[in-house]
Amino acid sequence: MQLKRGIDSSHLGMQCLSMNEYINYYKESLKELEKLPKNKKPSLLLHACCGPCLTFPLTFLCPHFDVTIFFNNSNIYPSEEYYRRLNELKKFLDFFKRDYGYEVKVIETKYDNDNYNKDLEKYADQDEGKERCFLCYEKRMDQAFKFANENGFDFFTTVMTISRQKNSQKINEIGAKLQKKYGNSRYFYSDFKKNKGIDIAREMRIHYDLYQQLYCGCKFTYEKGLKKEAEKYGK
Ligand code: SF4
Repeated sequence: MQLKRGIDSSHLGMQCLSMNEYINYYKESLKELEKLPKNKKPSLLLHACCGPCLTFPLTFLCPHFDVTIFFNNSNIYPSEEYYRRLNELKKFLDFFKRDYGYEVKVIETKYDNDNYNKDLEKYADQDEGKERCFLCYEKRMDQAFKFANENGFDFFTTVMTISRQKNSQKINEIGAKLQKKYGNSRYFYSDFKKNKGIDIAREMRIHYDLYQQLYCGCKFTYEKGLKKEAEKYGK
């Protein structure tokens, strides 16, 4: 299959692999970079959930792609937290332009936590990292991938594989599935935490003094975050 701008996607047979087979998606991302056209940067829509998670992925992607951020994170609760994370992400983009020379735009969607939670409620009591989270990854990736597909982006990916708390195998499986659904844009496989990505992200977060949230985002983990904060400050 030949995509626009001369990008060949015929090698993408990873969807056929067993769901239980471990794949090193960091290596897959390097292989993908080698195949990119040298004369022009492809466009990439990048789902991002917060400033700290965006740091290292942007340094990894911007030399190879013309990146646009897609901020669609209605999972975040309460709304003050949502806007705090969005503003922190924008603050980081200003630093990134100043220090790395890349201007990266942000597309925001409407915040709607009530509707977002409707199909997650049945998993309310689950710990992080199970079906509720898999659904939460997919809902945001689906909306973003659809946007990429309809708006002529060559690639789509998400920063979520930078997190140790998130299941990178699952995230990439979802990406492969969505690529079948949205055939125009291609999914960029990743495991940003690998090869010291997570350490660099941590250093960048400290260097730029970015707000580090104490819970993943949803109301189901919010209470746990408050408890953690209380313990941290000895309340
Ligand atoms: S813990 Fe994070 S990934 Fe899981 S449902 Fe909540 S916000 Fe989504």
